[in-house]
Amino acid sequence: MTRVPLVDLQAQYRSIKADIDAAVERVLDSGQCALGPAVSSFERAFAAYCGAAEAVGVNSGTSALHLALLAAGVSPGDEVITVPFTFVATVAAIECAGAKPVFVDVDDTYCTMDPARLEAAVTPRTTAIVPVHLYGQPADMDPILEIAGRRGIAVVEDACQAHGADYRGRRCGSMGTLGCFSFYPTKNLGACGEGGAVVTSDPGLAARVRLLRSWGEQTRYTHAVRGFNYRMDGLQGAVLEVKLRHLERWTEARRAHAASYARCLSDTAVAVPRARDGVRHVFHVYAVRAARRDALQARLADAGVQTAVHYPVPVHLQPAYRDLGYRRGDFPVAERLAAEVLSLPMFPELTERQIEIVADVIRTGIPAAAPA
Ligand SMILES: *Cc1c(COP(=O)(O)O)cnc(C)c1O
Repeated sequence: MTRVPLVDLQAQYRSIKADIDAAVERVLDSGQCALGPAVSSFERAFAAYCGAAEAVGVNSGTSALHLALLAAGVSPGDEVITVPFTFVATVAAIECAGAKPVFVDVDDTYCTMDPARLEAAVTPRTTAIVPVHLYGQPADMDPILEIAGRRGIAVVEDACQAHGADYRGRRCGSMGTLGCFSFYPTKNLGACGEGGAVVTSDPGLAARVRLLRSWGEQTRYTHAVRGFNYRMDGLQGAVLEVKLRHLERWTEARRAHAASYARCLSDTAVAVPRARDGVRHVFHVYAVRAARRDALQARLADAGVQTAVHYPVPVHLQPAYRDLGYRRGDFPVAERLAAEVLSLPMFPELTERQIEIVADVIRTGIPAAAPA
């Protein structure tokens, strides 16, 4: 029996059901189910939330990354630098734009791009850098922005796990040339299906993304550029606008749960995540590190605690990306993290009692290794 689920989307829906249902009904009544006023209204609210001039709603985080890279001028034959320790979509989007992904290892403490290794990866073909705010922890943006600025390279933030995260007073998604968000249902701000957004304060880039998301159509049946069908559904815009009003409260709940976990787990063998100084970590994922991770995960499962691993295989070792030419040992930090991280239950409606249950199972120990 599941005593503590990894996430609980039904609990969230129950808590705001009347408002969600009314918003959905308004879209259905209006008949404007692709883009339309519900999407425009959400775009304005989300841009303001991100501290950016504009947000453009699209149909997924992957589409957001693809269009942001194209708008930033990435073209076939270019190189785009990112990290191997991320969800595969970051890398897939770079290839959608026709570019070659080039990896830089992450740092061991915060699991985000190691800026000390960045400059060595820049070549004359590098047109963009994609830092990933993994787990809701902002990447170390100042040195990344400094290198990019000096070398004339665009920065496209993968903020798909970092809605509302801040870095030294600036919001994730608003620091780079463009920022990308996913509204996949389990993200901190989730639609009732797929969704995403590109955020930018450059009106020219926002206009380009708007054009690209809907077949490059400038006026009806005049296609100014070759585009895509990446439009956001009206229903998703309506649901997201309702949920955005609760995001700060939900984020504070996640942060409080993280503090409780850190307290309850302090006398155990797992290492708890640390937030970088001067940031607001939004804990999309609460990933601890354990030497015997798989045994601990099995023990938690036996005790009815659902967990996950984000991510067990870094992208450079995925079968699909073998032809990029990387090998085991190329990114030792990413490889070690992939073996050690374990994501514990984390969602706003999680209770103190559930956190204690998880901590108790971890404290009572991992089964001893079989004698050699
Ligand atoms: C979820 C996610 C994406 C992709 O978003 P989709 O909406 O699933 O396409 C990209 N990057 C990261 C880091 C993500 O977590």
